Amino acid sequence: IYDYPLPYTKYLQRRQEVRETLLSAQKNQQKMIKDTEDFINRFRAKNTKATQVQSRIKMLDKLERIELDEEEIATMKIRFPEAPRSGKINLELKSVSKSFGEKEVLQDVNLIMGREEKIAFVGKNGAGKTTLSKIIVGELSCKGSVHLGHRINLGYYAQDQSNTLDPKLDVFTTVEQVSKDTHTQTLRNLLGAFLFSGDDQYKKVGVLSGGEKARLALCKLLLQPVNFLVLDEPTNHLDIQSKKILKEALRDFQGSLIIVSHDRDFLTGLTDKVLAFTRSGIKTYDGDVSEFLKSKQLSSLDDFHEKKRPAKSEKPVAESQNKIEFERKRVEKKERNRLSSRIQKLENEIGELESELKKLSEEIGSNRNYSSELISKYQEIKSRLDRRMQEWEQNVAELEKLN
Ligand code: ADP
Repeated sequence: IYDYPLPYTKYLQRRQEVRETLLSAQKNQQKMIKDTEDFINRFRAKNTKATQVQSRIKMLDKLERIELDEEEIATMKIRFPEAPRSGKINLELKSVSKSFGEKEVLQDVNLIMGREEKIAFVGKNGAGKTTLSKIIVGELSCKGSVHLGHRINLGYYAQDQSNTLDPKLDVFTTVEQVSKDTHTQTLRNLLGAFLFSGDDQYKKVGVLSGGEKARLALCKLLLQPVNFLVLDEPTNHLDIQSKKILKEALRDFQGSLIIVSHDRDFLTGLTDKVLAFTRSGIKTYDGDVSEFLKSKQLSSLDDFHEKKRPAKSEKPVAESQNKIEFERKRVEKKERNRLSSRIQKLENEIGELESELKKLSEEIGSNRNYSSELISKYQEIKSRLDRRMQEWEQNVAELEKLN
């Protein structure tokens, strides 16, 4: 145990400094060990050097090796497998209400979600976040209508997701089964990132702790080609490192995301909208959780949970058809902007690829330079250009349709 009497961000800096110092000391030590070993090997058979050889062997035996913690997982990146592209609108809730016996949990909820929209559900325990998530994924019935868009591949991570795992399988086989074409080492790294190291990967699911099962269920989900994810408290059993990896993956995720969480750090910068579950109903806020807290002059989600009365300025979530229309327009506008900026980017890239291709073909032509390296580079760029052209056409067609 090392004691760093510092706040977390400072601790990270300090640890980095210590790591760099250790790393260079380790390098020096390794060089010294190698030199000593060379000396021993060279003079082992020589009687004249016997004492020096013996003393060096002893020295190496006693030497305490400088060791560094493994850091690889910190830089690991997870990518969701590519999923089919869904329609423009992925979810539409109209007047959704839900009661359990006398208890009314949700009342008249309306919501529209676009293709790549990311929404956080926040609110204190018992406010109805899990209930609404279950309604969205079709695990609970409700009053009102729930409509999922075209070509939706839904991924759902429930708080009790671990019950769906097969207790007879081992950890590695559990993930291998859902992802046959992923490289074995990639799967092992993924499991490592989610805190299953070495031997743990051969444990049977049946003997895992609750937290371990939850992490395994999350790994399984990350390997499936989904375009709409609903995650209910995914960070409960993760440490800072695995949370970071999950967050990066979710940030790059090209689909819709609903995430229920109490974790402000995790949510910061991850979503573009917040649905706040309060006593007086559900309210929507544009922006991520920091903007949401700032607008309410709160510093943490805990403060929000403890707050008794909503401020006057809060408005209940879209209840009228007008608001739905407004939301639809907003989603369409966002989509239009997204397409336009993608088209612009593609055009730039296409221009660059074309001039690169021209240069290459001139080089090949003028020097009659038919080296296989040059030709294969030409082919690679040509096929990249074709792909970008295709994508450009698709995007332009979509934009025209929207307009
Ligand atoms: P949250 O996810 O915000 O913590 P939940 O959606 O789990 O809240 O629960 C909302 C309310 O609905 C709670 O009061 C809970 O006790 C109640 N509830 C949830 N599921 C059931 C059920 N199957 N039967 C009865 N009450 C339920």
